[in-house]
Amino acid sequence: MSGDERRDETAVTGDGTASHAAEGDRESEHDWHGFFGYEEPYANQADAIEAAIDAGEEGGYLVMEGACGTGKTMAALAAAGHLLRNTDRYDNVVVATPVKQQRRQFIQDLRAINADLDEPFAGLALVGKPALCPYERADAFDRGVQDACEDLRETTAGLVAGDDGGEAWWDAGRAAELVDSAKIDADSWRTLDEGLSTAGVDAPYSTGRPAAPEAMTESDREQVFCPFEADWYAREKGSPVSFADGESGVVTTEELLAGAVPAGTCPHRAMGALLEDADVVVGNYNHLFDPRTRVLTDGVVDERTFVIVDEAHRLEGRVRDLLSDRIGSVSLRRARNDVAQLASYARQSRENREAIASQLASWELSTDALAQTREFYDDAIDWLDRRVESHLDEEFDDLDRAAERGDLPERTEIPLRDPAVDEPDDFTEWAAEAGYSEAFCESLHTVGAAVEDVLETVDPDRSCVCGSVGRLMRNWWTNDHAAYFREVTLERTDREHSDKWRRHYTAALECYDCLPAADLRERFADLGGGVLMSATLEPMDVFRECVGLDRLVTDSADGADAPDAPDIPDVPDGVDLQGPKSGDGDGGAANADGEAAGAESASDEHSEVERPITERTYDLTFPAANRASWIVDVPAFTARNRGPPDSESEVRETYAYALREIAQSPGNVLVCMPSYREAAWAAERLAESVAKPVLVDEPSSAETTEALKRDFFADDGKVLVTSTRGTLTEGVDYDGAKLSACAVVGVPLVNVASPRIRAVRRAYGAAFGEDKAFEYALTVPAVRRARQAIGRVIRGPEEVGVRAFLDERYTLDAPRSVHEYLPSEEREEWTTMTPMFLEQLVEEFAEEHPEWGYE
Ligand code: SF4
Repeated sequence: MSGDERRDETAVTGDGTASHAAEGDRESEHDWHGFFGYEEPYANQADAIEAAIDAGEEGGYLVMEGACGTGKTMAALAAAGHLLRNTDRYDNVVVATPVKQQRRQFIQDLRAINADLDEPFAGLALVGKPALCPYERADAFDRGVQDACEDLRETTAGLVAGDDGGEAWWDAGRAAELVDSAKIDADSWRTLDEGLSTAGVDAPYSTGRPAAPEAMTESDREQVFCPFEADWYAREKGSPVSFADGESGVVTTEELLAGAVPAGTCPHRAMGALLEDADVVVGNYNHLFDPRTRVLTDGVVDERTFVIVDEAHRLEGRVRDLLSDRIGSVSLRRARNDVAQLASYARQSRENREAIASQLASWELSTDALAQTREFYDDAIDWLDRRVESHLDEEFDDLDRAAERGDLPERTEIPLRDPAVDEPDDFTEWAAEAGYSEAFCESLHTVGAAVEDVLETVDPDRSCVCGSVGRLMRNWWTNDHAAYFREVTLERTDREHSDKWRRHYTAALECYDCLPAADLRERFADLGGGVLMSATLEPMDVFRECVGLDRLVTDSADGADAPDAPDIPDVPDGVDLQGPKSGDGDGGAANADGEAAGAESASDEHSEVERPITERTYDLTFPAANRASWIVDVPAFTARNRGPPDSESEVRETYAYALREIAQSPGNVLVCMPSYREAAWAAERLAESVAKPVLVDEPSSAETTEALKRDFFADDGKVLVTSTRGTLTEGVDYDGAKLSACAVVGVPLVNVASPRIRAVRRAYGAAFGEDKAFEYALTVPAVRRARQAIGRVIRGPEEVGVRAFLDERYTLDAPRSVHEYLPSEEREEWTTMTPMFLEQLVEEFAEEHPEWGYE
């Protein structure tokens, strides 16, 4: 699987000169130039736009790797603009990016496009409640915004409910009355109440949440509501903010707050109202892939949506996290208590019992379900307690003493099945032996939802969790055992007053999604088409398989009549329509005769149309003379080779020497080690050997990391040592002279001994073939991380810097070489050397580039 074999024949590669020009000079086939927001596209960009349009017109996806400076953002938006305006295939565009800086770039580029359009695109940047809720922003809640808001919205909905027989279930007039009742009296403005202010604007309400006037409630109890929410109902769920309020037609947090807060409307609701009419929506991965967050976007995201997935190398990991479930032991107890509380109300009187029984009956449940569910949770809590205790007893003779000595790991996994075997887990088996049937366990979701519903009426102030815990329990019993790995995880804590192991750890049941490809394939199949892009996607074939783009098909009731079904014979040049790599039985790839499924259906009633996937790879376009790219041929930096940090192994000494030579370069130097533990070792050695200040990153809060970054940028001439798996090697822009050299040590593989990672390998082996499991699940993501780190150095045409991989595995012929995972054109740039040449080469590079490392 060489890079050359992997590459699509029409992929554009090289250094921005000959090979790019050949592709880039091809005649424009589509009229997209009016949607390109800058003067002239690079040759790369023109090619990327054409390729994205070709794919999008056929309901397919463009997979694009483009180094920094390729102009991917504008290329993707220009193609999307053309598809939206010049074809009738798409209704809207959704951008999903996990990086704040990229989000800003998309907004800026969309505004640049709009600036030249008579009819600008209606643009909207999605953001969560914490950034938009005026109460949360003013720090007025004493609990989480999600819970507080949910309760306020529910009460408000009850107060504005109308029964006038109109189309809407709410009464806008009652809502307006509620709003008026909450407004701060003009006379008392800024005297009796400070009033609620945020983002430089004043709301017409006070900071405390108001209670509804007695005349408007049917209950004896005080009913606290949200006037911002009521105002949204009073506007018939409309928004006081319009796209015209956004800079160049793009509405962001700033405009939402500036328009909605003084008008007294919920900014989050205003955003939801605008969403329905937006042409281009800029959000994050959750808006496309998280089943919970998708509640907001599901109404507008469908088969007529063109998606742009940015930083797509993160997709697999991020979606894996989004689709994994975690039930903490505290939540388990709270769910038990919810159920016990309702049972207790039912026991208090005959009236209570009858009322609760009648409400449960509407869920087709009896009060017996309460007793059985409570018993289950009690038993489950006991089981978890015993399991954790016995594990820790085996690992540590005396847990308290181990904690005093600092011997307890921060995180521990207790696998509930052999990671190498697809078999039911111990918790599932325990439940069966204890007499809890599968049907009962799956019904915990319904019971939880019903208990929450009934408790709302008898104890409205209670914050219940039994609904969500019940849902996760149902998932535990319905997710399969090959793709989902169940385990107990322990996180270190320090709770002096708790008993037994709880003093030192919190426990959770986790159901980990090892194989997100199937879920991703399903999601992409539901969307109209799009672009997936990043600076590090290679090898493309591995990426396509792991995110479910291979064998991506669209179901249709009758393939022959499917609207907009790709017309296979007319597929444009450069669109890869290869069938599956091997015939398989999953039905999505080939029919019984091994023909491409998209060509003809084997069934009259049901056909599957294979979606075209196009690939493009664009190398760095900046002058090659401005950068040095070195592979330092030193023994592999593996645990076995290097020994523990306190050993004085030859391998460690070799690395200490090589790192010193690079760290002595002028300007700021970033050293990326395979773990934080190794980062601490390297920082200690460098502090002894170089004259510059050495900063060391460690697992910490976002604020601490931000402060460290500021310190590094404050003035040049420092060394920052971090983990390649940390947060400082991706999504951080070390532009200008902020970084003059980066050294990546080793291949940053995750801990291959972790049960969870072994389960991932097993799942990948079953899905993609045993021979590919390690490569797909571990090696390829590790090399992408290393390339991301190295990519921090050169961010613009004027930038000068040194990039170095330290480890023989980056060379071509080394045992367990990862050389083939570097894009083929990029490989030519890397010069292999032994560490003894570093000093001389650093000096030469500095002489050739007097500006290197200096502002
Ligand atoms: S409805 Fe809007 S303003 Fe009211 S609490 Fe929720 S997010 Fe905040």
